[in-house]
Amino acid sequence: MAEVAVTEKEYRNLIAGEWVASLGGETYEDRNPADTEELIGRFQSSTREDIQQAVKAAREALPLWAETPAPERGRILHRVAEAVEKQKEELATVLTREEGKTLAESRGEVQRAADIFRFFASLGYLNGETIHSADRDLLLFTFREPLGVVAVITPWNFPIAIPAWKIAPGLISGNTIVFKPAQLTPLIGIRLMEALEQSGIPKGVVNMVSGSGSVIGDELVANPDVDAISFTGSYEVGRRIAQKAAETLKRTQLEMGGKNPLVVLEDADLDKAVDITARGAFGATGQACTATSRAIIVHDILEPFVEKLVERAKGIRIGNGLDSEVQMGPAVNEEQLEKDLEYIQIGRDEGAEVAIGGQRLTDGHHAKGYFVEATVFTDVRAEMRIAQEEIFGPIVGIIEARDFDQAVEIANQTVYGLTACICTRDLERAHLFVRKTNAGVIKVNRPTVGLELQAPFGGMKHSSSETFKEQGKDAIQFYTRLKTAYLGYR
Ligand code: NAD
Repeated sequence: MAEVAVTEKEYRNLIAGEWVASLGGETYEDRNPADTEELIGRFQSSTREDIQQAVKAAREALPLWAETPAPERGRILHRVAEAVEKQKEELATVLTREEGKTLAESRGEVQRAADIFRFFASLGYLNGETIHSADRDLLLFTFREPLGVVAVITPWNFPIAIPAWKIAPGLISGNTIVFKPAQLTPLIGIRLMEALEQSGIPKGVVNMVSGSGSVIGDELVANPDVDAISFTGSYEVGRRIAQKAAETLKRTQLEMGGKNPLVVLEDADLDKAVDITARGAFGATGQACTATSRAIIVHDILEPFVEKLVERAKGIRIGNGLDSEVQMGPAVNEEQLEKDLEYIQIGRDEGAEVAIGGQRLTDGHHAKGYFVEATVFTDVRAEMRIAQEEIFGPIVGIIEARDFDQAVEIANQTVYGLTACICTRDLERAHLFVRKTNAGVIKVNRPTVGLELQAPFGGMKHSSSETFKEQGKDAIQFYTRLKTAYLGYR
């Protein structure tokens, strides 16, 4: 491995296989959101010049990597999976300290990252197809080639799984990568880079630069030597990236926010529906793009549903995710905490009722972190801001629906379309829901959160550019160009 990534808690960028300080000489602090007295480290506040160096390194490493046989690339990815798995406990602790989610959630995410590398490693054995030709002396076939230098720009909420599901298909396809982790979660990104180094990734094939989105993210989008951008984050930033990337005709893949609905019909198993709602709304502190933020409940079961969900929210133990008793961690930073509290006030002002929660926690061990209660709003109407805008906190609004048809109408009544769920035992209405709901992922009797890595994932409407899917074997399409060859051999 090249020189160390860290000196006295100051972490560096990975460029051309070397751990280097930013040319600008500036760093920033990253603190534990459950205990702000704990410094995670100091990270490079990188400049446009740092990105230019990283892009240059990726460009130089490209020819050799693109020509490396894909099964050989796959062997390296397999080793990454093993390296991540071997350090699972340590990486999960880093993730919890840096992002705040519980250790159980972090373990799941780290395991997911390892599994993703394993999945894409095996796709190195496949490429293109042969097609019957009308000419008897001709071989007609397709094959995929790498795109070139791919920029990977990721959010803080799944800071190892999302980079993994972009970097692994990018690498197996023969691209080189410049990775910009979210400013709030660079350390787990550095750990992933180290796993790649330990696995024998050649210098310059993967580069990582930390810092601000509006500076180094913007440079990645503008840089003419970057061929494509895979971005996950908010709609506002995604839209800006699409506009700017169009100037240099870059290929983009943008996966963005959500306002995911869950519908419960009168024939549902109520306890199961409450469990599915709570897992979707409060899991990962509601900081998931796939989180359940609108529970649309048909009139007949509204009262018992609210009662049971309130009971469930009341019992959630909130605290530092390193404590094994804790079920929900903090908001990721002060800004997100304030956003949660502001939306709780907006909901009240709009006339919705807080049935449970709604407060910041500051007592005892909560004093040093950004903790907010699991919050359930009742009397929410579909057009309210709390039912339309992405909050990204442990807050769910309950909206009453007359019947199935109205529930579907409400489910579709936002600009987003990421995931959706229905709880019912009625096969016909389950099918109709799958057909009529405008979301990229639709679930029946399963939470809006939680994805299988071997299935395609992506949103609709403002949740996605709808250009290419992520995850599953279809993910390869974004990272490759398809060529068709007519090989007349006589
Ligand atoms: P964000 O949009 O603020 O930032 C995402 C990334 O973009 C960060 O690395 C950031 O530094 C960078 N960035 C910011 N400004 C930029 C610019 N001008 N040019 C280039 N890059 C720039 O999002 P966030 O707060 O980190 O994450 C939360 C958001 O991500 C939520 O909206 C959530 O729904 C979404 N998300 C979506 C998915 C999905 O798969 N659809 C998954 C997870 C999170």
